[in-house]
Formats: sequence, C-alpha cells, structure tokens
Amino acid sequence: MARMRPSFHNTRAVPIPKRPALPACPICDKGVQLETAKTDEVGRALHEECYLLRLNLRRSTTPTDGIS
Ligand SMILES: [Zn+2]
Repeated sequence: MARMRPSFHNTRAVPIPKRPALPACPICDKGVQLETAKTDEVGRALHEECYLLRLNLRRSTTPTDGIS
C-alpha cells in the first residue's frame, strides 16, 4: 500500500516579456505606442488624439465670433 501523492511541481516560471519602455504622452501621461504616435514640435511622442486635442485647445484660445 503505497499512497502516491500527486506532486504538483508547477513551478514553471512564466517569463514576462520585456517590453521597451514606452515614452509617456505629455498630455495624458500614458504610454504612447510608437506605431501610432504623433510627434509635437519638440519631437516628443504623443497620441494622435492628444495631438488633436492640443490643437483644439490652442485653437479655442482665439475668440470666435460670428458663428451662426
Ligand atoms: Zn495621450
């Protein structure tokens, strides 16, 4: 009577793939995927939507009158 204890040797270390550190978007402070990144006038990577957002923010500083 030999009771075989099942051995759970699932100590396989799952390798975490090292991703290169993404540059942080200066607008939303999240990592920017370089494939879809825009660059601003100083060469910083930022999201396209953040890029557009910034353009809109700048544009909104000019008073717009006469819109009907
Ligand atoms: Zn962003």
